[in-house]
Formats: sequence, C-alpha cells, structure tokens
Amino acid sequence: MHRIGQGWDRHRLAAGRPCVLGGVDFRDCPVGPVGHSDGDALCHAVTDAVLGAAGLGDIGAMFPDTDPEWAGADSLELLRRAWARVAGAGWRLGNLDVTVIAEQPLLAPHRGEIAGNLAGVLGTAPRRIGIKGTRGEGLGPEGRGECVTAWAVVLLEREERRT
Ligand SMILES: [Zn+2]
Repeated sequence: MHRIGQGWDRHRLAAGRPCVLGGVDFRDCPVGPVGHSDGDALCHAVTDAVLGAAGLGDIGAMFPDTDPEWAGADSLELLRRAWARVAGAGWRLGNLDVTVIAEQPLLAPHRGEIAGNLAGVLGTAPRRIGIKGTRGEGLGPEGRGECVTAWAVVLLEREERRT
C-alpha cells in the first residue's frame, strides 16, 4: 500500500536570527527564520507531509505553538517525534522530495548534509531524499527576501495487512 502526502511551510526572515534549515546551521547567513520553534521551514514541511500521508493530522496539532515546551525547539527533533508515530503505524519512506524557495541562504552546497540529516531521522537512505533550492527571482515575498518557503512531497509504503 502506498500513500502520498504534501507539506508546505513559510517563515518570515529577519536579520540576526539563527538560520537552521534541514537541521543545517547556516552560520554565515545574515538572516534567519522567525518562529516559535527554530523556524526550520524545511523540517516543518516534511513533518506535515509525513503526518498527512499517514493520516495522523498535522504539525500544529502535534506541537502547538502555544505550548512553551516547543519554544525554540529543534525541528529535526520534532520531525523525529512525528516520524516515530508514522513508523509506529507500519509506514516506511518510499521517497521524499523537497523544494525550498529563498533568496538566502544558498542551499545547494549543503544538499547532501540536509538529505543525510533527514535520512537519519526517517530511517532511510539519503538517495531516497531529494533536496532542491531555488530563488524567487525578485517576485513575491521570497523574491524580496522576506521569507523562506518549503514544499515537501512524500511517498510512504506499508505492507498490506491481511485480516
Ligand atoms: Zn514552520
């Protein structure tokens, strides 16, 4: 059995904020995402995609932004917790494809590291994970450098349960 899921997330970028995307700390980036957690839009989109595919709700329900426990949270850890629920329901990752739209940071040099981080959390091989970075070409809030937006599409696989 296969199930597909998609996730989308966007965070405002502000000067002087730490910039963590896909669990990679872009130390040289002058701007970073604003959020209740660490604002890692990439991890948030992936979390919503895997929860959606498994029919397990969404990241907002699982980690409410009104809950002080998740203030400044490491979003790779949030993904790890969400994936534990998904894997607990018998799902494994078929493949995951992610696109990040932002003027900065430049993702390309770190695609392998991001895929490795996600693969480690999702119990799979990095070759099953695609990471793409693109820019807004001056258009929209991404193009004006106001935000980072991430899209994720995931395919989950599970053995048919025979009753
Ligand atoms: Zn988010």
